[in-house]
Amino acid sequence: MFDNYKFTAAERFMRYVQIDTQSDPMSDTSPTTEKQKDLSSLLAKELKAMDIADAHMDEFGYVYATIPSNSNKKVPVICFCAHVDTAPDCSGTNVKPILHKNYDGKDILLPDDSTQVLSVKAYPYLQQHIGSDIITASGLTLLGSDDKAGVAEIMDFANFILTNAAIKHGEIKILFTPDEEVGKGTDKVDLKKLAADFGYTLDGGDLGSLEDETFSADGVQLIIHGVSAHPGYAKDKMVNALKIAGEILVALPKGEWSPETTDGKQGYVHPVHLTGIAEKATIDFIIRDFDAKKLADHESKLKVIAETVMQKYPAAKMEFIVKEQYRNMKEVLDKNIDVVNYAAEAIRRSGLKVKQESIRGGTDGSRLSFMGLPCPNLFAGEQAIHSKLEWIGVKDMNKAVEMMVHLAMIWEEKS
Ligand SMILES: [Zn+2]
Repeated sequence: MFDNYKFTAAERFMRYVQIDTQSDPMSDTSPTTEKQKDLSSLLAKELKAMDIADAHMDEFGYVYATIPSNSNKKVPVICFCAHVDTAPDCSGTNVKPILHKNYDGKDILLPDDSTQVLSVKAYPYLQQHIGSDIITASGLTLLGSDDKAGVAEIMDFANFILTNAAIKHGEIKILFTPDEEVGKGTDKVDLKKLAADFGYTLDGGDLGSLEDETFSADGVQLIIHGVSAHPGYAKDKMVNALKIAGEILVALPKGEWSPETTDGKQGYVHPVHLTGIAEKATIDFIIRDFDAKKLADHESKLKVIAETVMQKYPAAKMEFIVKEQYRNMKEVLDKNIDVVNYAAEAIRRSGLKVKQESIRGGTDGSRLSFMGLPCPNLFAGEQAIHSKLEWIGVKDMNKAVEMMVHLAMIWEEKS
């Protein structure tokens, strides 16, 4: 099916990464940075040039497009989704992508900063790309494979489907979002307008990976109200909120229950921000677990620890505010199991092994799933993301395109 097809994902990718689309966590606008629209408007234009009549970018920088069905069956509408922004952690200005043809397996010195060395030792996945092409940045910036790989692959998928009319498929939606990296990727999405039944984000790593589980996440704000007094005359009056906050942090269990001591399916409690004065101190925590019940248990345990410290200071008061952040998409996907099963089948039909994985984080897919669009995450080939050593294998990108084509065919076939 792909023998005579000239894949365009890598060529598109090399162009898209040169457009700076870094998002900004401190901004209150939508999108958080206007420059994200530079890429989004280009994508809308390129989709239009493929004869997708309704392709457009909206005022918030979201791109919507519809590939019409060519099947006479009633096929559920699926959507492929990727984000255009890059992470604020690392510069995305003047990205110079380098195509290393026929990679020889040696360490790669990035030319613009010789301290940046992409080594097989640190990134053993490179070994699977010996003899094929890989793409890196030049040493001063990230590459932006997260998630311009997904963007380029979806664009190539659209190109393939529209130029291979013999492939039967239902209606397929394309969605490009801004601001995923700052947690606002779904804030302004219009799911009514999108009108899809099921979605897939293309924002994963290694070949064959299928992520159908994310953390469930809450934030906890612990506010301690102390008692203020003039320090010179504070004897038996002052209760210093900062010191209580310090005591609560010291009372957290050591060697467990934290990001730095957990992995796999373990959850954690993590103080991320501490501010205050003697009169009032605030500690912000993030709480994470795969299981909503355990998430609540972590919160109760944290509350007990804080209350135990507070008992020593009867004049001080505490507020314990829990805010829901996102939920494990598995809750939703388990009720829509075809979405995951068909993706696994598409990965196998692409000649790959399925690597079903859990994400120790959230994705736009977790939010979309709970907003009504069940949405697992599929591999896009991204490696060493959010860093100057970020790289991607061209054959992984092409496989992602193949997988999407199979997926579209499977939905039609099973309908
Ligand atoms: Zn991403």
